[in-house]
Amino acid sequence: MARKVRTLTRREFIGVAATAVGGAVLAGCKGEEAVRVSATPTPAGTPSAALTPGAVPGTVLVNGNVITMDAADTIAQAVAIKDGLVLQTGTSEAIRALAGPQTQTIDLRGKTVTPGLIDAHNHLQLWGTLLTDYVPLIPPDVKTLDDLLARLGETIAQAKPEEWVQGYFWDLDPPRREQIDPISPNTPVWLMQQGGHFASVNSAALGIAGITAQTRNPEGGIIERDQQGNPTGVLYNHRAMDLVRAHMPQPTPQQIANSLKTSEMKMAEVGVTTYQDVNARFAAIQGYMEFWRAKGMTLRSQIFYTLEWPGDLDRALQMERISDEYMRFAGYKFLIDGQFPTWYTHEPHPGISWDMPTWNPDQFKQTVKALHDTGLQIAVHCGGDAAVDLTLDAYEAAMKANPRQDPRHRIEHATLASPSAFKRAGELGVVISTQPQFVRAMGDLPGKIGEERAKRVMATRDWLNAGAKLALGSDTPTSPWYSPHVTLAQSVLRYDQHDEPFHPEQALTIQEALRAHTMGSAYACFEENVKGSLEPGKMADLSVWSDNIYSIKPQDIVNTTIEMTIIGGKIVYEQS
Ligand SMILES: [Zn+2]
Repeated sequence: MARKVRTLTRREFIGVAATAVGGAVLAGCKGEEAVRVSATPTPAGTPSAALTPGAVPGTVLVNGNVITMDAADTIAQAVAIKDGLVLQTGTSEAIRALAGPQTQTIDLRGKTVTPGLIDAHNHLQLWGTLLTDYVPLIPPDVKTLDDLLARLGETIAQAKPEEWVQGYFWDLDPPRREQIDPISPNTPVWLMQQGGHFASVNSAALGIAGITAQTRNPEGGIIERDQQGNPTGVLYNHRAMDLVRAHMPQPTPQQIANSLKTSEMKMAEVGVTTYQDVNARFAAIQGYMEFWRAKGMTLRSQIFYTLEWPGDLDRALQMERISDEYMRFAGYKFLIDGQFPTWYTHEPHPGISWDMPTWNPDQFKQTVKALHDTGLQIAVHCGGDAAVDLTLDAYEAAMKANPRQDPRHRIEHATLASPSAFKRAGELGVVISTQPQFVRAMGDLPGKIGEERAKRVMATRDWLNAGAKLALGSDTPTSPWYSPHVTLAQSVLRYDQHDEPFHPEQALTIQEALRAHTMGSAYACFEENVKGSLEPGKMADLSVWSDNIYSIKPQDIVNTTIEMTIIGGKIVYEQS
């Protein structure tokens, strides 16, 4: 079927025009002939009403240290904003001269301004759900299994009969059912490791899901078993977790929309203005749509639909492609392996499984090809080096069969990469969306995977040297760290669990880290022409910091605060 291809104009994209239906742009609806939204970058410098000569700004911010993040790394003192866009940056004197009688003036009193932080990898919907529906079983309150059982027991005592109790834990061995059962004879219990790739359930939950010694592992998932072959209650990878999840109550779109309000606000408090949720399954997308339709969004979002099973492809191809300044359907996400115990690697590691991708490789490649042909982006979670190579193989084959210009597919994490992957990713134009802060959570990596492989973990310098584009994100809620402060500091410091630098030769400078967390993350979603730097015509999304992160010690970045977060020229968070 021939498909029309059209490029969203810049005006449509940023939605400044007072178009019908509140400026919303719907492109391609279910059931109609799909109108393919071109994934090519929006044209830079398209004239906008806000930028006509002599335009009077609505707001000016003066007396600051403004890191514009333009190509010349210009530091300015002031910013003028009109109609949600940056009108101009420059000296305080020059910007003050633009102001009219109605202009609001914000005196920065020497504070530092950066472009709004763009979090390239997170699970904001899941985070909202954890914050509202799950029991936290994490430090400092929960440090041992006994702490966990005590806290869980209190919750179970308050639960209605047969009501599911859901919790998340961190930095503990996954509890087995024989440990959870004594406090939960009738209550089904679901405990997710915060990283998201394995979970513990009790016998009541296994019973509801019908999982027994006879149940076979789903492809790409592992039902852990004891020596007699009975399930222990621990499930590795999403496909195994789905066997139980399919029987759990799901939040309604309205509940998801409500929980998103909570997680968005927490992000605004740390200076994030755009988030890319790279793990939205169908129910989550329904929640996002509800949130968006109700005009509930404060931050800007880019949403990737996650395919967990081959059967998800049909639905993926039917997704409604919303695109306005607050929400955009950006593309598709796969998980081809899990977190460390189930990293898919070329050589053995001492986790749970090292040689198992979560998709059959041929099926994965066919699905990648089908999604590549839609014109949208693909992002693949890759923990191990074999996962990275398989994904590059799939991208390369899809791009060869259909040489789309600049598809800009992505690898998420790229935690461990093989020596050949760096150059290949650069040549294929693949974006590396990563989180160097995780070197702190990985324990003794050389002890687990050997010195030689440890050198290739979160190798941000090697990726940059190979010409790959870097984007940074928090991956929240998969670790205790959700702020850009930690991501930026750890990109420079690379501290391990003992506060020792882990392969410091791979460290970024703070300038490189901030660029990756703004322009790099904008590029990762084809938004480098509208976001990521403070330049005329770009969205007036910016963060005001308590300190100059370029001049303080990297160790101190985590102690800085965000004094103000501005999106589209409006203050969405202000420190009280
Ligand atoms: Zn993630």
